[in-house]
Amino acid sequence: MKRLVILGGGESGVGAALLGKAEGFEVFVSDKGKIKEKYKEVLIHNEIKWEDEAHTESKILNADIVMKSPGIPDKAPLVKQIRDKGILVVSEIEFASKYTNATIVGITGSNGKTTTASMTHHILKQELEVGLAGNIGDSFAKQVLENNYPNYVLEISSFQLDDIVDFKPHIAVITNITPDHLDRYNYEFENYIASKFRIAKNQTKDDYLIYDADDQVILDWLEKHPVQSTLLPFSLVKKIENGAYLENEKIKITIDNNQIEMSTKDLALEGKHNTKNAMAASAVAQLLRIRKQTIRESLENFHGVEHRLESVLKINKVQYINDSKATNVNATYYALESMDAPTVWIVGGQDKGNSYQELFPFVNEKVKAIICLGVDNEKLLENFSSMVDVIVETQYMSEAVKIAYKLAEAGDNVLLSPACASFDLFENYEDRGRQFKDAVRNL
Ligand code: ADP
Repeated sequence: MKRLVILGGGESGVGAALLGKAEGFEVFVSDKGKIKEKYKEVLIHNEIKWEDEAHTESKILNADIVMKSPGIPDKAPLVKQIRDKGILVVSEIEFASKYTNATIVGITGSNGKTTTASMTHHILKQELEVGLAGNIGDSFAKQVLENNYPNYVLEISSFQLDDIVDFKPHIAVITNITPDHLDRYNYEFENYIASKFRIAKNQTKDDYLIYDADDQVILDWLEKHPVQSTLLPFSLVKKIENGAYLENEKIKITIDNNQIEMSTKDLALEGKHNTKNAMAASAVAQLLRIRKQTIRESLENFHGVEHRLESVLKINKVQYINDSKATNVNATYYALESMDAPTVWIVGGQDKGNSYQELFPFVNEKVKAIICLGVDNEKLLENFSSMVDVIVETQYMSEAVKIAYKLAEAGDNVLLSPACASFDLFENYEDRGRQFKDAVRNL
């Protein structure tokens, strides 16, 4: 019996444990932190051996194969020991993909993964049996075991891609690449880009790579590192023969002489970034032969994912918008870009080495007041004090929202788009977004 050791007892780890057991492995789950009660119950119920708050080396280094949770960095000493022993280390998507023949759509990028994956799934599910997994909902491994869908849309992080070997999506999407998570990549942007492009590494010319052709980072990389995949670029600014582009506020997608057109005015989600996400999602749908009418209708009624430019409430003609998931500057760039009214902007949190320059034009043009919501707001004050009349600091969401309420006038927006991580004041971005929405509802 082959021994499968799983490092990390979260959603992907426990899913892989169940699948591993069903496939005849002797499974052991080890987590250095505490395993959540609900996952412990699953492991116990399925008679899978586990430990938490420890890594017992003797039970790990005898593995035939190790599945590592994406949260565990390669630099961890234990991982190094495992690799030194020549034991194969894989990610959950690599492991689970061995046990399905499904058609896989893999979506990666620095921003827009969840939105694009959810949008794609929303279109495909109208006509196909399709699972949505990756960083969303039930793990891929669990769905392979329990649902065995013939199609999957997977949201895939660079960490998942770092540990693939044979994983090959039939359709890959790279939404964009901007610096993020560089601490895991030796502070080398190149390493992070390479990691994202691993999504195409096993593709052949019968597979597709859909990508943002306005993203210079992607174009430069492709020029230096050609891929086998059939390329389907999308662009907001240039005409694309095979792929998607924008002309007179109409999205035009051509794939193998098959064309679909739709007006951006009909898209439920606003903002240029969402036009791009819609191009990518529709290109996938077209490749999978979803009817044009279905694609159009699905995009007209897809209202987005919580915490991503989510409209919360309108109070006294002021629109409150929750973009708590904007944990980096690029995401906030698109949030500010899409603001169509004077905006009171709530920003701040844990800095990731942010450079705010690209936001300056939007701040000058659209932002009337800034509320800094973080433990350390020095950098925000330095960058933006000269640009707005009002800039204040607070460490409480309820206070931030009350101040915003006082500053905003009829017709304005109040936007929470932090451009920073949430961990200085909140549990995570979901907690931050929920506190914002609660505070707005309590006004
Ligand atoms: P991810 O899963 O990659 O983190 P999300 O869909 O959760 O992406 O969105 C994260 C943030 O990025 C949100 O603030 C969202 O509004 C913004 N965003 C969504 N799509 C894009 C895009 N194509 N380019 C840039 N920012 C985007």
